[in-house]
Amino acid sequence: MKDKCMNDNQSALVLHSGGQDSTTCLFWALKHFEEVRTLCLTYGQRHAREVEVAQKIAGRAGVPFQVLDATVISALADNSLTNPAMVMDQEKPVDSYPNTFVPGRNLFFLTFAAVIARSQGIRNIVTGVSQADYSGYPDCRDTFIRSANVTLNLAMDEQLIIHTPLMWLSKAETWALADELGVFDIVRNETLTCYNGIVADGCGHCPACKLRQAGLKEYLKKQ
Ligand code: ZN
Repeated sequence: MKDKCMNDNQSALVLHSGGQDSTTCLFWALKHFEEVRTLCLTYGQRHAREVEVAQKIAGRAGVPFQVLDATVISALADNSLTNPAMVMDQEKPVDSYPNTFVPGRNLFFLTFAAVIARSQGIRNIVTGVSQADYSGYPDCRDTFIRSANVTLNLAMDEQLIIHTPLMWLSKAETWALADELGVFDIVRNETLTCYNGIVADGCGHCPACKLRQAGLKEYLKKQ
């Protein structure tokens, strides 16, 4: 039985990790939907702090927060986000993906989110993936998201809609969106993007920090 406490069309489930992108998406969702909930998926990341940060931000946004243990995806294949013995690639190798790539991650995430959304009577799923993202992970591409959306609907005979507000935005444009939504300071000071687990401006030298800072610098220069 579905929980019918929410109006199907006006409710959204946001995949939220506590980082810049998913936090911007959370506030984007609050602008576009009446009821918003967050889902934080853990998969053995090096820094459990992400969950704490995501929970705090959800509290600030006044939305329900749910954590789901998805560690199984890290048990399937090695990656440097979950294996402390691996040295993290700082750049994208010429002919492959950096070892921060977690194969199948977004497919699993969207599947878990879709099943949870269905069980809670939520029609919309929001995720912060971006095709403009630097590593070009295949499961961040628009084609994949559209395909997954069709597949999940066929799998469950549903009409879920996956929203990707950041799909075509650069990091600078994502900062601009946070500003437009009135949450620039929250995103800048309270989110955790850094692979070394440091909130806000981060360590400054990991790939995630470099990308975030380059975008921020570019955005601030235009102000
Ligand atoms: Zn960092």
